[in-house]
Amino acid sequence: MVNNTKHSKQRDALIEILQSTDTHPTAEWVYEKMREIFPNVSLATVYRNLKHMIEIGMAREIYTDNSSRFDANMTEHYHFLCRKCNKLIDIFPEGVSSEVKEMKKLGFEIDRYDLSVYGVCKDCKEADAV
Ligand code: ZN
Ligand code: MN
Repeated sequence: MVNNTKHSKQRDALIEILQSTDTHPTAEWVYEKMREIFPNVSLATVYRNLKHMIEIGMAREIYTDNSSRFDANMTEHYHFLCRKCNKLIDIFPEGVSSEVKEMKKLGFEIDRYDLSVYGVCKDCKEADAV
């Protein structure tokens, strides 16, 4: 029982940490934040709790070329990944994409869809121009 309490405290803290940021952090970043509260927590535990959050629909994982990033914002949105600064920026769609409409017209049933856009963000572009 003592263990269960410890585990749920860690879980609650992890949820709070992930919900406190919109930077789409890596597991390592979350781990560093967790260690400020629970000095003995392991990276494996952080991974396990992140997976748990995903399983219960409180977070999602975004795969990039070099790492996985985590997002607790479960409203419908997509992501832009900057190849220079690695920033993941939220994109909020205006209505259903034309591709999905097309699939529906063809008789497909769409459960969910995702979109990733890759390039260079405005800040990096401006920094380059200097
Ligand atoms: Zn950038
Ligand atoms: Mn996001």
